This record gives sequence, structure tokens and C-alpha cells, in this order.
Amino acid sequence: MQSHLRIATEEAWAPRHLLERYRKLLQSTPAAWDPGFHSLWGHFLGTTPRATALAARIQDLGEGRLRDMDASGIARQLLLLTAPGVQVFDAPTGSALARETNDELAQHIARHPTRYSGLAAIAPQDPRGAAQELERAVKTLGLKGAVVNSHTQGEYLDAPKYWEIFEAAQSLDVPLYIHPNTPSPAMIQPFLTRGLEGAVYGFAVETGLHMMRIVFAGVFDRFPRLRVVLGHLGEGLPFWLFRLDFMHRSSVASKRYPGMQPLQRKPSEYLKDNVWVTTSGMQWEPAIRYSQSVLGMDRVMYAMDYPYQFVAEEVKVTDELPISDADKKLLYQTNAERVFRL
Ligand code: CA
Repeated sequence: MQSHLRIATEEAWAPRHLLERYRKLLQSTPAAWDPGFHSLWGHFLGTTPRATALAARIQDLGEGRLRDMDASGIARQLLLLTAPGVQVFDAPTGSALARETNDELAQHIARHPTRYSGLAAIAPQDPRGAAQELERAVKTLGLKGAVVNSHTQGEYLDAPKYWEIFEAAQSLDVPLYIHPNTPSPAMIQPFLTRGLEGAVYGFAVETGLHMMRIVFAGVFDRFPRLRVVLGHLGEGLPFWLFRLDFMHRSSVASKRYPGMQPLQRKPSEYLKDNVWVTTSGMQWEPAIRYSQSVLGMDRVMYAMDYPYQFVAEEVKVTDELPISDADKKLLYQTNAERVFRL
């Protein structure tokens, strides 16, 4: 008998008014403004069967979603405003939309408090406002942390002007989920010409880069209790721990880069102690087992990536992992309860 709840920790939602704003942005900006946004939402706001099914499911926080959760045995979803969230708008608009969508999310959660929890949307393009909204969302709305969809208009959170967001997350003791976005405009071109910019691979390159910029900038030396969550089994980084340590050590020793300074610990130690990963979109036994073996059983959490990757049968892969029932409970339930304080 199943002795755990299945909690899915990277599940997307979006209200209709946000999708309408995305549609207007597509119409009012040239593709070169943000080729990744145009590719992603040009597709998902289109008329293919996959796009129309996605657009319907992502807005539904009522009976349809609950039915899909029941069909795949998901007890609770942790809801994240879908990528790129409010990060594509000018700062005042992004901040206003963060407040509005967080209020809406809290109302949805209040209607189904045993089935949903949520992370706050924030607008890093207004760093002070983002830190304040994170505090409001946690203290007033009961949200469990924040999601940042990788780059914000080509910029990454390791830039010091964004560090007050880290400061707020650490002092509130809530995690930041660094969710993928398409690669920033400065590096997306070679991805686009082979269709590699999205979930197939570009998301992982973009988001892994973002995480490593944060590590190499010394953010975790400044904020040692900061907690970060990555999806997609850490966006490939667990496979790189050895080389990251080796090359960081030798490059620092040779003083090769002004932007790469000594750290108090090895890069891999921050990735093991300050970072948790989820299995979103990666229901593949060897990769899950590898991540658990190098990061620790208490570091890997289940996620489905609904509705982008809603394949009910995939739950079976996780159910049948050759690990103990106690470890399965960590993966499905207890790690998420601890990290997000559910
Ligand atoms: Ca996702």
C-alpha cells in the first residue's frame, strides 16, 4: 500500500489576462526583441492541438485540473506562474502583475487548500519591488517562496542590484525556484535554427548557466542560508560537479578571470547544500538515481511539469524506482514538505 502522498512541485498555471498580455506583446514587438519569447508563446498561443490543450489546462485551477491530478495520483500541486511570468514587462507593469497574479493564486489555493500550494511571481526588473512582493506574498498570502524564470530581459540574478531579492528570501527563510526560460537574446540564435531553444535542451543550458553565475558570484558566501530549487534534475549540473570544482580551482589559481574570484567552498558544495532539484520532465530512472546518489536522497523532489508534460503513466516510473519506501516518501512527499514548508 502507498504510504506517502504524491506532491508535484513544479506545476504551471496562468490566468487568461496574462496570456492575453503575452499575445499583445507578440503583436507589438519584433521577434528580435526576445526571440525565445516569440518562439515559445508564438507556439503555445497558436492553434495546434497541443497548444489549445495547453492553453485550456494552464488556466484551469478548478475541476479539470483536479480531475487530472486524481487521474495521475497527485495529492498536491505546488503552483508556479508559467514562464516567463511577469519578467517580460516594464518594471511598473511587471510589479503590478506580480501582485495581481499572487492575489489570484492565493484565492485559488484558498478554494482548494488541501490540493494546492503556490510560489509567488516576482518582477526582478524592479529589484526592491520584487523583494517587497516576496515578503508580502509569504507573510500575507501564505505563498511558499518565489519563482524566477531565469533571465530577466537578458540579465541574471548574480548582478548585485538583484541581491536584495536573495536577502529577502534568506531572511524570510523561503526558497527561490529558478525555473527555465528560453536562452537570453544574446545567446539564443544557434539554438533557434535547430529548434533547440526550449524544453528539449535550451532551457537547461540557460538555467544551468544562471545557477552557475549565482554560485561563481559568491552569492552563497554572502547568503549562506539561501535556498534555491532547480527543476529538471538540476538542469544537467549534477553531472558536472567534478569538473566545475576542478576548473574553478585552476582558473582561480591562475587569476585568469576578474569575474571568477575565490569562494569559501567548492562550487559543488553550494550545489549540494544550498540547492534542491526536482524531477520535472525527467521521469527517467538512471538520471533520478544518479542525482540522488551525488546530491543525496534529501535533495531530490518529485515534479510533473503539468500541464506541459502531463503523461499520467510517467508516475509509474517514479513509483517503480528501486529504492526503499522510506526513500520514496522523501522523493514524493517529505523533501517538498521541508523545503517549501507545506
Ligand atoms: Ca515547468
